[in-house]
Amino acid sequence: MCIFCKIVNGEIPNNTVHESDHFLAFHDLYPKAPVHILIIPKQHVDCFQVVSPEMMADMTPFIQEVATKVGIDQSGYRLITNNGADGGQEVNHLHFHMLGGAKLVWDHS
Ligand code: 5GP
Ligand code: ZN
Repeated sequence: MCIFCKIVNGEIPNNTVHESDHFLAFHDLYPKAPVHILIIPKQHVDCFQVVSPEMMADMTPFIQEVATKVGIDQSGYRLITNNGADGGQEVNHLHFHMLGGAKLVWDHS
């Protein structure tokens, strides 16, 4: 079982920000911005490339709710999903990084 499935199952502790029947948002263990939240479907999906349009349609309002809940919906944020090896994906369970809480620098590397 992947580490994010273990988080969903409660086998690995997490710092939950927001939760619904189908999605979970929790703080990244190694934050790269003042706010760094990971947003995942509870059901295992490998990556963005294979997610269904139906799941993304459900996930979109959940992501927007997370931004509102942590108070960065007005100030702004960056939403990233690393997809596959060249995208730098390390955990093979679909997740969106929500980064904010400061004016972010765009790194072109
Ligand atoms: P990726 O590189 O796959 O896009 O991002 C994986 C993210 O998961 C990284 O930002 C990493 O810090 C985070 N991460 C890895 N293991 C854990 C964990 O056990 N708990 C939490 N909260 N975050 C984790
Ligand atoms: Zn998983």
